[in-house]
Amino acid sequence: MGLVSAKEMLETARKEGYAVGQFNINNLEWTKAILQAAQDQKSPVILGVSEGAAKYMTGFSTVVGMVKGMIENLNITVPVALHLDHGTYEGAKKCIEAGFSSVMFDGSHYDIDENIAKTKEIVAYATERGISVEAEVGSIGGEEDGVVGAGEVADPKECKMIADLGISMLAAGIGNIHGAYPDNWQGLRLDVLKEIQDITGKMPLVLHGGTGIPDKMVRDAIALGVSKINVNTECQWVFAEKTREYIEEGKDKVGKGFDPRKMLAPGTKAVYDKTVEKMTLFGSINKA
Ligand SMILES: [Zn+2]
Repeated sequence: MGLVSAKEMLETARKEGYAVGQFNINNLEWTKAILQAAQDQKSPVILGVSEGAAKYMTGFSTVVGMVKGMIENLNITVPVALHLDHGTYEGAKKCIEAGFSSVMFDGSHYDIDENIAKTKEIVAYATERGISVEAEVGSIGGEEDGVVGAGEVADPKECKMIADLGISMLAAGIGNIHGAYPDNWQGLRLDVLKEIQDITGKMPLVLHGGTGIPDKMVRDAIALGVSKINVNTECQWVFAEKTREYIEEGKDKVGKGFDPRKMLAPGTKAVYDKTVEKMTLFGSINKA
C-alpha cells in the first residue's frame, strides 16, 4: 500500500472510539522506527512533518521519496498518511504538489474570516487531489518550530464554521500546549471539547501537544471525539536520552562503536518503543 489520505482512517477511528497517532519524523532513523512499529502492531499511522523538519531533510520531495521507498522496502502494508504539520498556506500547496497525502493548514493566527477564506482554498486544492486537510481553531500554546502560541481556547461556534468547509479533521485549542506542560497546568478543557463535539457532529478532532497529558485525560479526550493525537516531544526526549547514555558509557570508543548506524541504534529503538506505547494508549493496535 502506498500513501493514503488520513480521512478514512480517522473516520473509522472516530466511529470505533480510538485515535490514530501522528508521530513526527525528523530523519531516516525516526521514519524507519515509526513505520516498523506501525507494521508490527498492525496500526494505521500518520507521519507528521513540520515545514522546519522538511527543510532540515532538504525539502518536501526528499521526504516523499524516503517515505515511499521505505514503505516499499520494508513491506509496509498498514495505512500510512504523510501529513504536513502546522503548514502555512504556501507550504501546504507545495507539499501537496510534492506528493504528501495529507496537510494541516494552520490559519489559527489569522482572524476567523481570513482563516475561513484560506482554509477553503486549501480544501478545494487538496480535495480534488484526494488529499485530507486538517484545520485549526484557537491556537495551541507553547513553541513549535519557532512559532509561539499563547494557547487560546477555541470558540465552538468558530469550530463549526471551519468544520463545515469540507476539512477531514479539526484541531481545536482546549488548553493543550506543545512541549512540556508547566506544573500549574489546569488540564484539558474537556467541557469545551464536549461542546465542540456536540456542535461539529462526526468530525474527527485532533489533539496537539500530547506530551505530558495524563493517560486518563487522553482516554477521556478520545471518548469525546479526539481521533488523532500528535506525538513529537516525547520521542525527542527518549531519543536524546538513549543517545546520551551511549556516549556517556563510552560505547563510541569501543571497536566500531563510532559508526553512526551503531551510535543512533539505541535512540532509534527508543522511538520505536515510545511509538508502540502511544499506539497502545490510543487504542489503534490491530486496527489496520
Ligand atoms: Zn501542533
